[in-house]
Amino acid sequence: TYVVTDNCIKCKYMDCIEVCPVDCFYEGENMLVIHPDECIDCGVCEPECPADAIKPDTEPGLEKWLQVNTEYAEKWPNITAKKEPPADAKTFDGEAGKFEKYFS
Ligand code: SF4
Repeated sequence: TYVVTDNCIKCKYMDCIEVCPVDCFYEGENMLVIHPDECIDCGVCEPECPADAIKPDTEPGLEKWLQVNTEYAEKWPNITAKKEPPADAKTFDGEAGKFEKYFS
């Protein structure tokens, strides 16, 4: 599966939603996640993310993000259409430790 990682938080550009063939993104207030059981590993969302936040879970060190995506894809609503990203998205792009500060 692919997973959404830290830099999505507070950036939430949502370009990924437009390209996912199986609509497997779920939306929290500050972040999106991918449902690991629904993702078909096509990879098209990865280069679309302006924040470079989407990675294959085969990359090392992403266990935490696989767990976050798995847990919150069950709790948050499905999102199938792109919305307006936060007006201040650029301000948060690249900030370290966003999960601890802002995750919701
Ligand atoms: Fe959707 Fe493909 Fe990205 Fe999985 S890898 S979330 S199926 S676009």
